[in-house]
Amino acid sequence: MTSPTRAELLDRLRYGKVWDVVIVGGGASGLGAAVDAAARGYSTLLLERGDYACGTSSRSTKLIHGGVRYLRQGDIGLVRHALAERNRLLINAPHLVHPLPFIIPARSAVQRLYYGAGLRLYDLLAGASSLQASRLLDRGETLAALPGLDPLGVAGGVRYWDAQFDDARLAIALMRTASEFGAICLNYSPVEGLLQANGRVCGVAARDVESGESFEIQARVVINATGVYADAVRRFEQPDSTPILSPSQGIHLVLDADFLPGGTALMIPETADGRVMFAIPWEGRVLLGTTDTPRRDLPVVPLPFAEEIDFLLDAAGKVLLRAPTRADIRSAFAGLRPLLDAGRGAPGGTAALSREHAVLVSQAGLVTVAGGKWTTYRLMAEQVVNKAAEVGELMTLPCATAMLRLAGGEPEDAEQLSQLPGQGIRLHPAFDFDEAAVRYACRYEAARTVEDVLARRSRALFIDATAARACIGRVGELLAEELQLSSERLEDLISQARTSSNQFSCA
Ligand SMILES: Cc1cc2nc3c(=O)[nH]c(=O)nc-3n(C[C@H](O)[C@H](O)[C@H](O)COP(=O)(O)OP(=O)(O)OC[C@H]3O[C@@H](n4cnc5c(N)ncnc54)[C@H](O)[C@@H]3O)c2cc1C
Repeated sequence: MTSPTRAELLDRLRYGKVWDVVIVGGGASGLGAAVDAAARGYSTLLLERGDYACGTSSRSTKLIHGGVRYLRQGDIGLVRHALAERNRLLINAPHLVHPLPFIIPARSAVQRLYYGAGLRLYDLLAGASSLQASRLLDRGETLAALPGLDPLGVAGGVRYWDAQFDDARLAIALMRTASEFGAICLNYSPVEGLLQANGRVCGVAARDVESGESFEIQARVVINATGVYADAVRRFEQPDSTPILSPSQGIHLVLDADFLPGGTALMIPETADGRVMFAIPWEGRVLLGTTDTPRRDLPVVPLPFAEEIDFLLDAAGKVLLRAPTRADIRSAFAGLRPLLDAGRGAPGGTAALSREHAVLVSQAGLVTVAGGKWTTYRLMAEQVVNKAAEVGELMTLPCATAMLRLAGGEPEDAEQLSQLPGQGIRLHPAFDFDEAAVRYACRYEAARTVEDVLARRSRALFIDATAARACIGRVGELLAEELQLSSERLEDLISQARTSSNQFSCA
């Protein structure tokens, strides 16, 4: 089956159709809502100003988890919900989510028992969806499973199981799933204003970045799913609205696999300043993270601060046998957490649901979903679409996502890929991605730029920024062929990708 072209999708915006649901934002929250709304049968349009998951949703720690640290905060309900969602994702997206063992090393027998008791509770909360029971390990077992761990002071450990996923690829799977249910999803289409009539939000003003064409799009209900930018979109309606978010930046560093060989992730529940740190095997490398730095300026591409890099290197150096230095960093990236500002509440609207995420309705009927985490995107989507259906007075239709298999990983996908030229011609020895996959990304996964391919269809920029930089020229040529790009456009995209590779590099 061929996918509609961008021109065909844009054409659908031109005929004054009134959509049931228009969603602003193409990260985990927006794409999840698009799948939910389209699968219920609502006519659904999603507009993303950049690429899908270009914001926080490609910059996570890549864990589908209950959140061991929330246990310490006593947030049992949240952990239980997240564990149930973890189970659903393992079933609904087995091509993108898999179980992963973690070890928390202990410095004493008492500490081992303490962590063991906490993780036993984690097992119990998972109930039937528990992956494998946690287990106390002696010193020898701990060091054998984590050969990169500095043995000094290690008395033993506790192994538990959670799940790992590819965040940007899951976002693309959601976009494709929503499209299969008839939703129109468009990247590079910023929403620049809200349409209002009789005191009600009734649509959006949007623009196609590539052509510059503007659109006024009518909707029965508009969902604001713009992550840390949710307050900015709320201000389209009410310029003086009180912010509901307190964003915080977290960074990750990617190191070679030999810093932590063995396939088991390391979890340090408390670093020198009380933060959790993970070192996780990922894409043949080690992902180290994360930090927690309040940030109000909200750049489109947040960059790691030097102090954050030093903090992570220092924390890793304290627990790993070989202390990493700046020269060992293959890639570095930052993301902004859309944390709810509990102190401010939700003025002029109905706040609902857990401490972790909220669904708010403004006076004029703009429905905002804010906060939360990747793991719970499906639950958030169910709740925000329930609310949107009420606000937009849509026919009540039940949520259909609990058992919905997400797109990708099927024999048809492999067959489509196998028909494209460039099979087995790898872009770089550091990556599995071949030229056929670049063509596939353009034809079936809405890649529009060199950076889309290198950051979110493959994960090259996240894995090794220098090696990714070496692929820019060839990816550009393939993109130009697939999308019939002018030479000026191609030059722009190449220079944009070079800037991006510098941003992922710590050199
Ligand atoms: C460092 C870090 C680590 C994390 N690790 C994990 C983890 O391991 N597991 C987990 O479950 N969760 C994790 N999270 C949380 C999770 O990543 C986020 O909760 C989730 O990605 C937020 O998705 P979102 O769609 O709300 O926001 P975003 O991904 O930021 O999406 C919002 C989108 O809206 C778009 N947008 C903004 N304004 C407009 C506009 N005017 N018009 C059109 N589009 C617009 C943006 O371009 C963006 O793509 C982590 C977060 C961080 C920061």
